[in-house]
Amino acid sequence: MFSVQHYNSEQIYSILSSIFGFRSFRPHQEEIVQAILKGRDVFAVMPTGGGKSLCYQLPARLMQGVCVVVSPLISLMKDQVDAARINGLSAATLNSTISAEEKNAIGVALRQNRLDLLYISPERFNSEYFISRLKTLRISFFAVDEAHCISEWGHDFRPDYLGLSKIVHEFPSIPVTAFTATATPRVTDDIVMRLCLRNPHLTRASFNRPNLFYRVMMKQELDVQLRSFLAGHNGESGIIYRNSRKKVEATAEMLQAYGISAKPYHAGMSDVDRHAAQEAFSRDECSIIVATIAFGMGIDKSNVRFVIHADLPKNIEGYYQETGRAGRDGEPAECLLFFGRQDIAQQLRFVDEIETEHARNIAKEQLRQMVRFAEQNNCRRVALLKYFGETFSAQNCNSCDICVDSQKLEEATIPAQKILSAIYRTKESFGAIHLADILVGANTEKIRQFGHDRLPTYGVGKDKPKNYWRAVIDALIAQKIVVIEDPLRPILKLTEEALLILRSQKKFLMRKPPEHISVENKINRILNTKIPSYEVKPFSELLFAKLRELRTELARAENVPPYIVFSDRTLHEIARYFPRNAEAFQQIHGVGRNKYASYGQQFLEVINKFCEQNPDEVKSWQHQQPFEQNCETSSQSSQSSQLSRSSQSVLSPPTIQSASFLETYRLFQQGKTIDEIVTERQLTRGTIISHLEKLGESGAELSVDLFFVPERLAQIKEWFRASGETLFLKPAVEASGGKLDFEEARLARIFLRKSSLVNQE
Ligand code: ADP
Ligand code: MG
Repeated sequence: MFSVQHYNSEQIYSILSSIFGFRSFRPHQEEIVQAILKGRDVFAVMPTGGGKSLCYQLPARLMQGVCVVVSPLISLMKDQVDAARINGLSAATLNSTISAEEKNAIGVALRQNRLDLLYISPERFNSEYFISRLKTLRISFFAVDEAHCISEWGHDFRPDYLGLSKIVHEFPSIPVTAFTATATPRVTDDIVMRLCLRNPHLTRASFNRPNLFYRVMMKQELDVQLRSFLAGHNGESGIIYRNSRKKVEATAEMLQAYGISAKPYHAGMSDVDRHAAQEAFSRDECSIIVATIAFGMGIDKSNVRFVIHADLPKNIEGYYQETGRAGRDGEPAECLLFFGRQDIAQQLRFVDEIETEHARNIAKEQLRQMVRFAEQNNCRRVALLKYFGETFSAQNCNSCDICVDSQKLEEATIPAQKILSAIYRTKESFGAIHLADILVGANTEKIRQFGHDRLPTYGVGKDKPKNYWRAVIDALIAQKIVVIEDPLRPILKLTEEALLILRSQKKFLMRKPPEHISVENKINRILNTKIPSYEVKPFSELLFAKLRELRTELARAENVPPYIVFSDRTLHEIARYFPRNAEAFQQIHGVGRNKYASYGQQFLEVINKFCEQNPDEVKSWQHQQPFEQNCETSSQSSQSSQLSRSSQSVLSPPTIQSASFLETYRLFQQGKTIDEIVTERQLTRGTIISHLEKLGESGAELSVDLFFVPERLAQIKEWFRASGETLFLKPAVEASGGKLDFEEARLARIFLRKSSLVNQE
């Protein structure tokens, strides 16, 4: 029988910190925990990474009896059980992979009331025998995870879930809770009805994921673009989605050929191969998975740092769920979509294969919305959230390409006029590709067929590559100066505003398009040079690398994925705050009692050894003070957490005001030279220059005059240009023939990155 017991906040918070190692709840977690402790049914819709597991795991620990968790995938269950155990919860799973011996042991633990959590798969509820056994146990409550699997309207319907309707009838006195990340109202209504929840406590969290940066880029030379992006994310985990098996294989092979650790994943592979790929990814043994959308729910990996869509997704819901797999740990992560209009036609071919007209029309409308999302010129976050019925009201989200780049506009009235005039002269009946062909004077079948080589606009844009004209057209579309009535039949029409621009009565401004790029390393230069996406709160990369090694080693020894040992966020904090004793270490995010007992000593050894060997690095980080500055609180609004990444706030209190490099910044602002600061702070020149680099990246105003006379900088710029490279210094140093040393090159690069040399995006 369920009897309500009273739990006070102290008990709750003590479990939060001792078991989970967290200092505060994420939005809605506390209210859900409270509702469960009061014995209510609960239905919670929270985005991926919102922290749903904790909502049932924490009460499971406090309450008498076992919490029965229904979870759809065996692979998911195993990781969840491992993660719970490592935290010090007692958890087990009953599924077909369990040996008879283990089953017995679990049976004993259950009868002795020693388990907090029992994970089972949904089909168990089809067995009368299993239900009768369950009835002999003391159950605290049921938790149905991934509850959208019960809805035929959801994107992942599983018939086995239908059996869960029985729970309420078979166990009328036990509370039932359900969790999902599915956003649509139709599915959520369906879940409540099918699970027969009784006046449930309802939670619908915001779908905003403040730590995700959204970017759409023109798809040009995809392979090169991918490699370039990856070069800037060396060793980080990421997913690349492609829309066919063939493309998955091709991209994976291409990356492997370049020595990048990538594996393919698609439904055409054998179960064994697919499983191996997923395991390798989950365990950081391979950093990149190239996959079709078959790769999805089974991934609880928290340290996915980027999700790339290399082809146009078929709808916004899918795009959102797929991008949602990035950054579950709450650390910054990047979502990059390569958008090419040629992909529309291909998606339309998929749509045509759909059988009923009704379903085809829905699919087309969804595709239209997706194309609009990619083309439009408004904040991506606003658009995504609007799709889910949410309003996001901040002026500037600071973490999408549109918001971040909106400041970098330049005038392009004359190029715009050339295009508008081509549209006008071809009677508003053609699409972007053909128009760009006219401008560059291409010799195509279509141009000859329509006699467009006789137009006065034919070839007027020869001086620029076709990509440039495509970029201008994209900007005209995004700003609604030309319109496409049906995104799926992209024919450009002029608006009133277009006429004003044609008559030079109005200026046209656009983001600076990439310069002509044909040579691969030029692209590398552009894309590599840190796409200015998000501000990662700084941490010592040297120490982080060491910590990561240890994490991999420990995880391997225990046969669990590394992120279960410690999340990226935990390692980032360690590499920022350098905890050197037990007390400091236990203050770090994600370090609970049990994890400290299992791993604390080994990590402290690595940290202390590192500190002895790298005194400079330690000095430059030693002023970091953890705890007042990065508490997640349940009342925290999405905007405020984004602020911690916006470029201005990196320098404003209370974020990291006490950081060592800000002290350096203060001294520069007082007009001190590098040498004076070296003396005053007792740090090396290298450290001070690394501070300048951080400041440069975070957008701080650094006066170039303090460091270079213009002629010298121009000279250095030439060497960089000649070397075709700014990611590394060596080529420029070599190009200078002994006139430039590494230190000066490093210093110059800070300013060159800000100037036109590299900021061509
Ligand atoms: P979901 O199931 O909602 O996608 P998870 O339960 O897998 O999300 O949690 C995502 C990540 O967030 C995990 O790494 C988890 O440890 C972390 N997390 C959960 N709650 C908190 C919290 N209160 N503070 C910090 N991190 C949290
Ligand atoms: Mg989950």
